[in-house]
This record gives sequence, C-alpha cells and structure tokens, in this order.
Amino acid sequence: MILTEGQYILGIDLGGTNIRMGLVDREYQLSHFQMFNCSEVLAKEPMASLQKAIVDYVRRFDVMHKVTAISLGVPAVVNKNHSYVYSAPNVYGLDELDLGLEMENALGLPVFVDRDVNFILTHDIQTLHLDPHSDKTILGLYLGTGFGNSLYINGRIHLGAHGSAGELGHIPLYGVDMKCPCGQVGCVESLISGRALVNLANTELGGCDISQVFTRFGSHPRVIRFVKDIAIPAATEVTLLDPDYVILGGGVLAMEGFPIQMLMDEIRTRSRHPFPAEDLHFILAQGDQHAGVMGGAMLVMDYLKQGKSFRS
Ligand SMILES: [Zn+2]
Repeated sequence: MILTEGQYILGIDLGGTNIRMGLVDREYQLSHFQMFNCSEVLAKEPMASLQKAIVDYVRRFDVMHKVTAISLGVPAVVNKNHSYVYSAPNVYGLDELDLGLEMENALGLPVFVDRDVNFILTHDIQTLHLDPHSDKTILGLYLGTGFGNSLYINGRIHLGAHGSAGELGHIPLYGVDMKCPCGQVGCVESLISGRALVNLANTELGGCDISQVFTRFGSHPRVIRFVKDIAIPAATEVTLLDPDYVILGGGVLAMEGFPIQMLMDEIRTRSRHPFPAEDLHFILAQGDQHAGVMGGAMLVMDYLKQGKSFRS
C-alpha cells in the first residue's frame, strides 16, 4: 500500500520530557507540528492520557479521516513486533505494556511502535542521503538524558532477536556497581548520560548550572574524563561493527562548549587500528526537533510501500 494524496502518517515522538506530534504526507512534508510537556499529558494514567492527547490532536485539526497510520517512538526497549514495550526507564507507566495493540484498539488505526532512536537515525540517514544503495552500516549515538543508540547494519535498522539491539547505555562497565533505573548495576548510563552529568555538576562542580558545565568547567579534569569516558562504549561499538558513518547527537553534545573534537579524537584513538579507526566518518546530528516524528513516518511509509506487516 502506498500513502495516497491527502493522507498522512501521524508521527508521535514520546520523550522523557516532551511529546511531539505531527502529520507527514507522502512527500515527507511535515505539518501541524506540536510539542507538549509529557508530565502534563502522561500524569497518572499514561495510556488514557496519551490516547486523549492523540484524540484531542486529530479533533483540533479535524484530520481523523486523513490519518492512515500512527508511528509512535518511545525511549524504551520494544519487541520486534513493534507493539510490546518491555522496559522504559525514563517514562512512567509504559513497562511491560502492549502499547501498539492497546492504542490500535482504542483509536481504530494501525500503530507502529519502535525505539525513538531508531526513528531519529532513520530520519538522519534519509535527510542526509547517507545510504542511496541500502548497503551501509551507520551508528547513531545520541547522548541525552540517557545514552541512546541505534544500529543500522547493511542497509536496515538492526532489531536483533527481540527488538532490544543497540542498548549501548545498558552494557556493563567493569568495576562499576551503581544501580541503574533499568534494574541492572554498573550500566554505561550510570557514568555516561545527561543524568550522570547533572550528578557530576552537583557533587564535584559545586552545584554548577548544568548548562554551564562545559563553558565554565571545560578544562576541569573531571569534565574531561566525562567526555573521554563517552568514547569507551562508542569505540567498543565502532570496533565491533566497522561503520561507514557514526552520527553523534543528543542534548549533551549540543550543549554550549561541548568539546566535540576531543570526543571524536578519543573515539578514533580508542578504536581498533588501523581500521576502523583511521577511516572513521563522523556526522553531527542537526538536533532537529522534528527528527523522531519524521523518522517514524518515514519508516512506516517504507513498511506500507513494501506491503510489510507492522507486527512481523
Ligand atoms: Zn541500565
């Protein structure tokens, strides 16, 4: 099935802080983009609140009959059936929930659920035209509240056996025993995430405002270590997968004064030599607010074009 003229994919990007929604047509034109604070929308009953937010949105713009399908990106581990959410440590109330099926039953529209970073990487690859022949290997490393990671291997998003591939933020670090919101101990995110940076600012930088960490304390040894520590999981993944491109993004890397060159140099230094280290191509993500909404719609349109079921 191909999206007909006047029909849209409703793209939804559910983050830890904000929900973004927009309509995307078959020419990939975005319209009616809206952003809401999550805490207002999700409040106590996340499913009911999310459904209400969607119904309010389509009524406000009178587009219910124009939506063909919904893409819903979540910061979570999602089963490869694109419906069931296993674990969402940064969003209240989504753990162990058949989100796609429940939304589909409530709204009467097909719903495609996936990890938000898979949508963002899809957007970045398509808008930058990085893979015209669908054969590249591209890594997305997005350091925000958590450490988001998406793997695109040989021309497609790699989901793994269960849909949980690419959880780089939750691989174990040697000698670290801090508890992670995911339930494990010693995860990468305990030391390398926006959350960890806030903690660092509060404990070791005298309560420095988080937005000024790199401008005021850029040469502080502890801040330099934070940046170089990012390279350890990044270089691990680079060494394992020998990518054509590495996309770097997320709120922490977009902060004023973030030493992006130091990070790239360190990833190169810590990766296997001579390759992939000596031929690493980094791309800085543009930090587009619309990326999750657009990328989800792009992925859904690919599925529709190929006649593939969402629930594979
Ligand atoms: Zn974890």
